[in-house]
Amino acid sequence: AGGEIRLGHEVTGIRAENGAVRVITPVSDDVFDRVIACAGLQSDVVARFVGADPSPKILPFRGEYWELAPERADLVNGMIYPVPDPRFPFLGVHFTRGVYDNVHVGPNAVPALAREGYTWLQISPKDTWESLRWPGAASLAKQHWRMGVDEISSSLVKPLWFRKARRFVPELRMRDLTHKTAAGVRAQAWGRKGELLDDFAVDQVGPVTVLRNAPSPAATSSIAIAEYLVEHYLSAPVR
Ligand SMILES: Cc1cc2nc3c(=O)[nH]c(=O)nc-3n(C[C@H](O)[C@H](O)[C@H](O)COP(=O)(O)OP(=O)(O)OC[C@H]3O[C@@H](n4cnc5c(N)ncnc54)[C@H](O)[C@@H]3O)c2cc1C
Repeated sequence: AGGEIRLGHEVTGIRAENGAVRVITPVSDDVFDRVIACAGLQSDVVARFVGADPSPKILPFRGEYWELAPERADLVNGMIYPVPDPRFPFLGVHFTRGVYDNVHVGPNAVPALAREGYTWLQISPKDTWESLRWPGAASLAKQHWRMGVDEISSSLVKPLWFRKARRFVPELRMRDLTHKTAAGVRAQAWGRKGELLDDFAVDQVGPVTVLRNAPSPAATSSIAIAEYLVEHYLSAPVR
């Protein structure tokens, strides 16, 4: 449809000017009629470019996985999921058989120490400090500290992870979990009162629509989310 995908263009500024929007990157400067920003882990940063409310903030939660030994992959023939606990936005460790027949065991949910903190060693003092001083930090810690200790300890101590996984596959042996594999970081929207949002937060600032919080299953439902944005925001006249 004549669209263009530009990789390697970090948006450093978005400005509404004379009824249009200027999008600035270190290598380009373009003007558009309307802009929809879906910046994942950076979505609150991008929201601030256009003067939107700083809340919800994005709290990065890493999801780590262990890999099941290939010779034990036949233990898992489909997806094995826990029953969701509605108090938490994350599902808990589950077994997923991939398209190459490899089996992932995870993800957990541990606070990442940087927005793009894919391991415990990737630390951003700025991101961590901003999370600690967020007004909802004390309330979140008070509410969920038990869950936090449980998740962090099983991230660091393999037998604890194994114990969680074996609840679903009793035949599992510790040595079947061979190594930790690539992790992902979830962009969890977090309100001022410490609440973890279950749904999307959409701000409309003039001609700019900013989407924050794309929790699972946002990838699965991305087309429906796009339709929702077009119907409810893009079709509305700019105010
Ligand atoms: C461990 C894990 C497991 C998950 N499991 C599932 C699942 O089973 N099912 C499911 O549906 N979803 C799942 N999700 C969630 C899913 O991955 C996200 O909801 C989805 O990726 C969100 O899409 P998005 O486009 O909003 O954000 P993203 O995929 O994060 O994309 C945002 C993009 O914006 C770019 N960006 C950010 N800032 C800038 C900037 N300043 N300039 C230019 N570009 C910028 C980033 O580089 C990135 O490419 C999982 C996530 C994790 C971490």
